[in-house]
Amino acid sequence: MAQALTTTDLQGALPLVARGKVRDLYEIDDKTLLFVASDRISAYDVIMENGIPNKGVLLTLCTQTWFKALKEANPSLRTHFITLDLPPQIPESLRPVLQNRSMQVRKLRILPIEAIVRGYITGSAWNEYKKSGTVHGIKVPAGLQESQAFPDGPIYTPSTKAEQGEHDENIHPDQAVAILGERYASTIAKMAIDLYKTAHEYALARGVIIADTKFEFGVDEDGEVVLADEVLTPDSSRFWPKDSYAVGRGQASFDKQFLRDWLVSEGLKGKEGVRMPDDIALKTAEKYQEAWEKITGGKI
Ligand code: ATP
Ligand code: MG
Repeated sequence: MAQALTTTDLQGALPLVARGKVRDLYEIDDKTLLFVASDRISAYDVIMENGIPNKGVLLTLCTQTWFKALKEANPSLRTHFITLDLPPQIPESLRPVLQNRSMQVRKLRILPIEAIVRGYITGSAWNEYKKSGTVHGIKVPAGLQESQAFPDGPIYTPSTKAEQGEHDENIHPDQAVAILGERYASTIAKMAIDLYKTAHEYALARGVIIADTKFEFGVDEDGEVVLADEVLTPDSSRFWPKDSYAVGRGQASFDKQFLRDWLVSEGLKGKEGVRMPDDIALKTAEKYQEAWEKITGGKI
């Protein structure tokens, strides 16, 4: 298997501002960041020791494809994307490894809410529903089956954006209002639902169901809300193949379900320092590749 890039080293070409679970952020100037997707993979909020070769490239190109499609559907949408071109500060020697896994983005103040939209009931939402008939505290119709589409359309189910090492917490939309204030909370709730609807239709035409996804938004210097981060990737979304979809059970998905299932079966869920065996890494890589090919029609 090809070598995975688990950490970036720009050798001082740009100052590092932050390392997330997957991305390394560097400052180009006071308005612009270099947003570099590594091949790191996390599951249950823990980063694996080894990575998935080329995953950062897939995530970057997938995000770029979506920004383009979403802007075509709604030209007034603002996104943080500037270009895939590397800035002049990056020396020749580093360019091959950074190319296509980096984007220049507008530096924003990120709103501290994960704007999750769910079109179908699954995962933690399904678990909560079975216990209490609610999803993030929202009352939803009785009698739903696992993986069923919400009968009244997709629902907005935010979570907190936890500090490093902590877990995001599912919250009711009213709590997002308390955190962000009415104006930003209602703007991102509406934007997230609209973006999900556009993306769902686009992916469905390509044989993929987007069961749920997570957006992040930032605020620019004019106070305008801007779509940020990665969008509609297998890391931030649950993608299901349309062909094999059926209600009343869990779905085979194009995301990290495979890795998650392996961690659970080995009793490694939430443990630090786990090294994925080659076959698990390879199968996960195939899933990412498959999702990317279906949605973008692209090959790498
Ligand atoms: P975190 O818990 O920090 O959100 P993460 O593990 O999901 O972590 P990554 O996806 O690896 O983080 O890194 C991306 C980070 O960059 C996130 O913290 C995200 O909120 C932030 N971010 C995304 N877009 C921008 C932007 N335009 N300006 C500033 N920060 C951004
Ligand atoms: Mg992230």
